[in-house]
Amino acid sequence: MKDQSCSHSGLPRHDCAKDDNGQIDVLRRIENAFFDLSRPNTGPRRILVEKLAELAHTGEAFSADDLWQSLRASHGRIGRATVFRAIEQLVESNVLDRVELCDGSHRYRVCGGSHHHHLVCTMCNRVVDFLDCLSDRKFDEIGRRHGFTVKDHKLTVYGTCDRCLKSGGK
Ligand SMILES: [Zn+2]
Ligand SMILES: [Zn+2]
Ligand SMILES: [Zn+2]
Repeated sequence: MKDQSCSHSGLPRHDCAKDDNGQIDVLRRIENAFFDLSRPNTGPRRILVEKLAELAHTGEAFSADDLWQSLRASHGRIGRATVFRAIEQLVESNVLDRVELCDGSHRYRVCGGSHHHHLVCTMCNRVVDFLDCLSDRKFDEIGRRHGFTVKDHKLTVYGTCDRCLKSGGK
C-alpha cells in the first residue's frame, strides 16, 4: 500500500517517524517550528521541546491540559497560556496533529511528516498512525459524484485497540 500516490497532501513522504533518524527529524522539526517564530529559546520552550521529543518517541496522544500538567509537575513554573499557545503554533507548523476522538474532544500527537491517517481506540483514546490511503483518482471520483473539487482530506478510523480487547473491551 505504501506505493500508492498520496500526492494530494503535498507533504513529503517517508516511511517511519520513530526510527532513530525519524526521532532526530522530529526534534529538528519541533525546533525549526519554534525558530520560525523568531523568539529566543527560553527555558519553558526548552522544556517543552524535550517533553515533545519524549512524546514523539512513545507516540502517545495528549490533551493540552495533560501536557501542561505534566510539565508543571516536573518543572514547576510554566504558564498554561504558554503551553496552549505553543501547541497552537506547533499544529500550524504541522509538527503536531490534532486528532478527533469519538466523543468530539481531541488530542494532540507528534507524528511523522509523511502523509498518514489515524486509528483511534474508543476505549483508551490511544492513537496510532497508518500510511494507507485512497488514490487521488478515487478521491476525485468521490468529489465529482457530489459536485466537489477535492483539495484535501482527513481520515480517522475508530475501533478497539489490542490492549483494550485483551482486558475485556468490545
Ligand atoms: Zn498524525
Ligand atoms: Zn485501547
Ligand atoms: Zn490520505
